[in-house]
Amino acid sequence: MTARTGGCFCGALRFAVQGEPKRVGVCHCLDCRKLHGAPFMSFAVFDRAQVAVTGGARRLHSKPGYARAFCPACGSHVFGEDEGGIELYHGGFDEPDLFPPTYELWTVRRESWLDLPTLREHHARDRNGA
Ligand SMILES: [Zn+2]
Ligand SMILES: [Zn+2]
Repeated sequence: MTARTGGCFCGALRFAVQGEPKRVGVCHCLDCRKLHGAPFMSFAVFDRAQVAVTGGARRLHSKPGYARAFCPACGSHVFGEDEGGIELYHGGFDEPDLFPPTYELWTVRRESWLDLPTLREHHARDRNGA
């Protein structure tokens, strides 16, 4: 099985992941927008056992039970984690076009000009309807 690799801008924080993600999504929430400085954020969710992280990450808890890991040297946000697994952000992967997203969260904050053709599931807010 081939490992997909990625990391932060400066290379101090790296990851390698084995296998396929459990799900792949896009989030338009205000936290993701602000923390990434981008109109939306996208991620692939894996079991913790699939992912090996090297280098030191700092963690910011943007809500209870959810931590966002970033590189303390360059500030890049690389992954998020909660009890359900680890979300590797698409922008951190070394190669493009891996794991197209199939669902989106927080469409109430979606930019009207976005066209994301692979999405099949649309949630006004979080997945659980909260
Ligand atoms: Zn870095
Ligand atoms: Zn979000």
